[in-house]
Amino acid sequence: MSNNVQFKESSKQGVQKATKIVISYGDGIGPEIMKSTLKIMEAAGARIEPEVINLGEKVYLDGKTSGIEDSSWDAIRKNKVILKAPITTPQGKGFKSLNVTLRKSLGLFANVRPVRALDPFVSTGHPNMDVVIIRENEEDLYAGIEHRQTQDVVQCLKLITRPGCEKIVRYAFEYARVHGRHKVTCMVKDNIMKLTDGLFHQVFKEIAAEYPDIRSESQIIDIASAKLATTPERYDVVVTSNLYGDIISDIAAEIAGSVGLAGSANIGTEVAMFEAIHGSAPDIAGQNVANPSGLLNAAVMMLTHIGQSDVADKIKNAWLATIEDGIHTPDIYKGGQSKELASTVTFTEAIIERLGKEPKSFVPSALGKGTDSIKIPPYERKIEEKVLVGVDVFIDWQGSNPQEIGDNLMKLADDKMKLKMITNRGVKVYPNGISETYCTDHWRCRFVAAEADTKISPPIYKKITFERLLHLLSRLNNAGFDVIKTENLYEFDGKRGFSLGQGE
Ligand code: NAD
Repeated sequence: MSNNVQFKESSKQGVQKATKIVISYGDGIGPEIMKSTLKIMEAAGARIEPEVINLGEKVYLDGKTSGIEDSSWDAIRKNKVILKAPITTPQGKGFKSLNVTLRKSLGLFANVRPVRALDPFVSTGHPNMDVVIIRENEEDLYAGIEHRQTQDVVQCLKLITRPGCEKIVRYAFEYARVHGRHKVTCMVKDNIMKLTDGLFHQVFKEIAAEYPDIRSESQIIDIASAKLATTPERYDVVVTSNLYGDIISDIAAEIAGSVGLAGSANIGTEVAMFEAIHGSAPDIAGQNVANPSGLLNAAVMMLTHIGQSDVADKIKNAWLATIEDGIHTPDIYKGGQSKELASTVTFTEAIIERLGKEPKSFVPSALGKGTDSIKIPPYERKIEEKVLVGVDVFIDWQGSNPQEIGDNLMKLADDKMKLKMITNRGVKVYPNGISETYCTDHWRCRFVAAEADTKISPPIYKKITFERLLHLLSRLNNAGFDVIKTENLYEFDGKRGFSLGQGE
């Protein structure tokens, strides 16, 4: 691609040495919007030297199931900055999402997604919307650890870690400080997931206390998403976990005008990756109608990150001026409001024509500090006393009457361990379940120390040894029970490290 040569030439004229970056053209509309973005960066005098790598569909279909060649890993790790067009993950062939692999393998813990209304030039019901969503990028349900355990039941593990929460929450507060923002809202579902989302919320409260200059609030994700969709202007910076963040950032971009507008940064301690928030849009690929703004805004974030805010501002201002002049791609075009229906190519040319100009209505861009100015201190693990107090044994049992399995398991108790309860899909069904509860073939049977006093609330657990647990499993196996997995029950510094069954 000729862009490589031209970028090198322009860098020779400049005072600053060109920064090597990795680029990938991606799939679907990817090549169109990447060409547009590179052309604009080149015309704006970006001091970059791109190295092209192949990612995505072609690599998958050539037999590399990860979607990435080893040489591409080397290029990314060497250059540390990647601008990536969207890729297509082939469906139904068991391929893992390369996006998730890249984010997790490279430790890109923070996904920063700014979304701002472009009122009155791009139609939106929320003219004052200006929100930055900071999404945790490495864990949660996106760990992708799934198992089929019985005929009827599959499981996906939701992993939330203290270092993961600390990094992302601190990043959100630091981001707010660096970018002059005033409030950080945490979105969780800790009324249901008391340990996982509860940890995220707990860490949020701890870290918020270190930033008294920034307001903080926490909301339950369901009502928060509804409020984000109806009154987005009430939010400033939002910090949330991986899945919620993925969903709400698409909602936010769409209600601001189009999913095609928003760019994002994936920030790690070593590497940073910049991309549009949208996918490869195969429905419009090759038609010269795609909006390149999402990838262009990602490139603007990248230029700020590599210390070229001057070029970033120049591009952002030309882009804002183009939007103001009513030159719009089909996704944001509105009769009576827009002036010219632009193709990807004519929209790109319009931006290049306006390089050096400032917008008249929008506040001109002044991107000072980039995402790279935020440094997160290393995690320090606090050691707590961990005591084994029981075990949840998951059993595949085809019967339907909880009384039957419960009474049989009761007979297997010894003087060291006893059955405390059985749940089915989290709801207590033994002892004293109710007949209306629907039961599958997946029974969670909780065993605790025989002398534990579990009748009082909160129950007093007693320590058990791992050997007792193995004895129990052996008795279950000998009695013909199909044990599909176990989860040990621990207390940490005397605090329960497991949830109660619903109805327990
Ligand atoms: P999508 O974001 O590609 O498209 C959703 C809708 O938005 C489509 O109607 C599309 O035409 C429109 N759209 C998206 N970007 C646009 C743009 N720049 N201009 C105008 N209209 C635009 O989502 P999808 O259809 O669910 O996914 C398609 C593929 O993209 C899938 O293979 C998915 O796995 C992949 N994907 C990749 C990434 C990534 O690489 N970061 C992210 C999301 C999805």
